[in-house]
Order: sequence, then structure tokens, then C-alpha cells
Amino acid sequence: MTLTPVLTDTWDKDHSWRLATYERAGGYAGLKKALKAEPADLVQAVKDSGLRGRGGAGFPTGMKWGFLPPPDGGPRYLVVNADESEPGTCKDIPLMLASPQHLIEGVAITSYAIGCDHAFIYVRGEVLHVYRRLLNAVEEAYKAGYLGKNIQGSGFNLDVTVHAGAGAYICGEETALLDSLEGLRGQPRLKPPFPAVAGLYARPTVVNNVESIASVPAIVAKGADWFSSMGTEKSQGHGLFSLSGHVTRPGQYEAPLGITLRELLDLAGGVREGHELKFWTPGGSSTPIFTAEHLDVPLDYESVGAAGSMLGTRALQIFDETVCVVRATSRWTDFYAHESCGKCTPCREGTYWLKQVLHRIEAGEGQDSDLDLLLDLCDNILGRAFCALGDGAVSPITSSIKLFREEYQAHIDGHGCPFDPSASALFP
Ligand code: NAD
Repeated sequence: MTLTPVLTDTWDKDHSWRLATYERAGGYAGLKKALKAEPADLVQAVKDSGLRGRGGAGFPTGMKWGFLPPPDGGPRYLVVNADESEPGTCKDIPLMLASPQHLIEGVAITSYAIGCDHAFIYVRGEVLHVYRRLLNAVEEAYKAGYLGKNIQGSGFNLDVTVHAGAGAYICGEETALLDSLEGLRGQPRLKPPFPAVAGLYARPTVVNNVESIASVPAIVAKGADWFSSMGTEKSQGHGLFSLSGHVTRPGQYEAPLGITLRELLDLAGGVREGHELKFWTPGGSSTPIFTAEHLDVPLDYESVGAAGSMLGTRALQIFDETVCVVRATSRWTDFYAHESCGKCTPCREGTYWLKQVLHRIEAGEGQDSDLDLLLDLCDNILGRAFCALGDGAVSPITSSIKLFREEYQAHIDGHGCPFDPSASALFP
């Protein structure tokens, strides 16, 4: 399978982030075409394309837009979730840095399609350089008449606000993000109602990931059939696959869904020289880990699910044989325990205890009963937490115990970690 540069087509151009570079590559053809179409036809085109949410859950994008209630004269909003924070996930930030106009054109088309005249881009607070780039890109789009009043003479008005969060993983959860945007403490809301019905300021709101919205211009410009001709029957189109860790050429690889890790590693120069693949994540740290046995699993929602994990954010973290799986899992668990928002007991208390038990195993103070204790704790978190954070936290633990139980046992029996952390250079 070969790469399909669409979102990444201008990344290696000089000043790729400038509007002029984007226009020279055919940018804003989608918006010009969209403004001559009926909004309902655009929603249908996105439904027909088969585009599924690229933030991780894979919910059909056009269907989500279709959930908005009929217009009632009041405002409705588009909110772009640019709060990318999942460990290993690193696709939206490079996209916004290298080619922010892909996103802004997508925001304009989507807003026109759903009848919104004020859209928000919520970007995570730590990435100040991305926030600045977005502010500049939005300003360029206003000056060129792609945002603002009477866009391209169509009579359509749209304002875009770029908002920087304060750096909390939970604010990537869509309803916590909405609370944060409203000036409240970011914590998830009970669903339903889904944001489509009662979102920002309790008004109908579409919340979509950066890559989902950035995919819309090409779908409109080139047609739904063009998009759905790529990928697999139920996971259509192309997407960004982020390779990191022990890989020769880490980075973003834009390819049709259904590509395998083996094919991606061929494109990325393989696992670092002299080493072999031990384990990897198909979609960030909150998806169950895979091993070399899974090299040929097509990276689409259905195949990854059938193999026991989730496609998630297509964040492929590659670990070779020098990495201690207990150490890696323990670091991820530290992250989830730190980022738990504290709203629900299973996640708040559960991630704390997971961290304690993993730390004592790592420190050589584990007991024989600890592995079953960990699995029992996971069992009491999975499906019982208020949002997906709790489920995500248990995925690496349950999957790594299933695949590498003997490695955990070796820490307990040997009273410490048998690996040399300096050999992996990933988790010092
Ligand atoms: P979800 O399946 O609950 O929802 C997905 C989307 O579909 C949401 O926008 C939701 O509002 C909408 N939806 C679902 N059912 C609906 C209905 N009946 N009516 C209207 N809308 C409906 O998943 P989620 O909790 O939003 O997200 C979980 C995913 O987030 C995980 O799979 C993970 O991969 C991903 N994630 C990503 C990051 C990141 O940094 N990108 C971080 C953490 C988690």
C-alpha cells in the first residue's frame, strides 16, 4: 500500500503554513464549491464519504452532523477539539502547525453545512506555538474573505474563535471541553444529552476532531466517491498514522485505513537497527497493546477491534525488546492517575491504586497476589467510570498482563526490574 498525501500534501513546501501556499496547492476550492451547494447536500456528501471521527472513537461524522435538531432561530455551534493529549498521539498538532488552512477551510465548510455562524477551535494550552499559528492563520483567512461577513460574496457569515485550554487531558473529552470553554472547571457532563442536542451554552453543537474537519475540504472538492474509494468497506478514506518510539524514521504517514504496521514499518525504515519489535499500541496508550503477532492486522476499526484492541487515534508507539513492559505500563498509569479529573470514584481512586501497585512491582516489592489485584482493580474501573478516561487507563494494564504475565512475575520473583533502562532510551 502506498501513501496518500492529502492533508500532508504541502507540509514540505516552503512556508507551508501560509495561506498563499495553501491556495497555490488548490486550497479553498472546496469552500468555493460548498458555498454554491445546499447545506443539506454537503451533510449528505460527508455521510456518503464514510468519514468517521478521527479523534479516536470513529463515530460517523456526517451522521453526527445529522443529529442536530432542525433550526429554531437560535445559535448552533461548531467546536473543533484540538486538545490532542493522548500519550503517543501527535497528528493534530503537526497538522495545525504545517497546514492550518486545511482545518480553517474545513471549519468554514462545516459551519456552512450545519448552519453555524460562530465556530470555536479549542487547542491544548501547552502548545503555545500552535495557538499562535492558528491565530495567524485565522487572521489570514479573515483578510482573504474566507471568514467574516459575506464570505466570498455568498451572504454566509462566520466568526472563528481560537481558545487555548489550560493543559488538562480531561478537556479533550468533548463535554469537559465544552465546560472549560464556558469558563467552568473542565469535567465531563452526563450524556445524553449529547452535544448535538445540548452542547455549548446548552445549544446544539457539533464537536469534531481537527483531522476530521480538515478532511472535509477534499471530500467536497473531489467528491464522496473519491474518499470512499480508499480504505476498507467500513473504514473508508485516508488518515494520519503517527509512528513513534523505536522506529528508524518516526513521523506522520498518511495512508488509507486498512494499511498494516508491517507496511508502515517498510515505509518508515523498520524498527531501529539491530533490534526487534516487542510490543506496540495501535491507537495511543488507551488502546490494548499488540505484539509482533499483530503486524499484519489491517489498521481499520473493524480488524483492530476483532484482534482485541481499538484503532483509536492511530498513534503507533513502537517498542523494541529493550523495553520493560511493566515500566511502560507504569508510566502510562502515572499519566492517567495524574490526569483523572476526580469527578467519579472508580477513576479517581482506581487509577491511584493502580499506580501504587505498579510502582511496588517495579520497585521489587510486589507480592504474588498483585497481578490478580491489578486485574480486579481494572475490572472495577472498566465500564464503571464516568467517561472514557477510566477505560483507557486499564487497557494497557489488562492487555500487558495478558501478553506478558511472565515479565510481571519476573519482577515479583526477582525483586526488581530485570531490564537495563538505559538500553531503551525511552523510559529513563
Ligand atoms: P463516544 O463513542 O462516546 O462518542 C464519539 C462521538 O460520537 C462523540 O462526539 C459523541 O457525542 C457522539 N455520539 C455518540 N453517540 C451519539 C448519539 N447517540 N447521539 C449523538 N451523538 C453521539 O467516544 P468519546 O468518549 O467521545 O471518545 C472516546 C475516544 O476518544 C477513545 O476511543 C479514544 O481513542 C479517544 N481519545 C482521543 C484522545 C486524543 O488526544 N485525540 C485522547 C483521549 C481519548
